[in-house]
Amino acid sequence: AHARDAVDRLCARVPDFPSPGIMFRDLTPVFSDAQAFRAVVDALADAFAGQFDAVAGVEARGFLLAAAVGYATGTGVVTVRKAGKLPRAVYRESYDLEYGQASLEIHQADLPAGTRVLLLDDVLATGGTLAAAGALLEQAGAVVVGCGVVLELADLTGRAALAGRRVHALETV
Ligand code: 5GP
Repeated sequence: AHARDAVDRLCARVPDFPSPGIMFRDLTPVFSDAQAFRAVVDALADAFAGQFDAVAGVEARGFLLAAAVGYATGTGVVTVRKAGKLPRAVYRESYDLEYGQASLEIHQADLPAGTRVLLLDDVLATGGTLAAAGALLEQAGAVVVGCGVVLELADLTGRAALAGRRVHALETV
């Protein structure tokens, strides 16, 4: 409840960003508020308590959440990166965005097979990003125990794109 209240109070709505017709939800005020940040990190960790050995975050805002949850729970952190950033052998998935197209990569060799991974990002929109990130983790031999997000945009039906995965959103609009 504390986390949801913080999101409701602090999340900024930005019309026509990054392109006309898009109502962008900016969570940077949630991250920059000490109590709100702690509340969202703790709420995401609690939702999957005891169920994961590592936390994966999607570049870039997901990194903030994954690093904090990993530190708070004593688990490792995996970076799911935009294409071209990782130096060793990668798996790659291309996918459609709410606005455009993109590819994500992870290192092939960073996780022992069977590692239980919690996948985090700030916002669930169409679900393309988390679907691609989940597929990558599975290619790397991990078990994706669920997806956690701070905010779910229900109109964009991201849950359907993540059918079969457990999805926990701290707030849904
Ligand atoms: P999806 O792939 O679910 O359509 O989009 C989710 C990805 O795009 C996430 O990585 C998220 O950070 C970003 N994104 C899409 N819409 C928004 C938005 O309104 N606000 C924020 N903060 N990120 C968004």
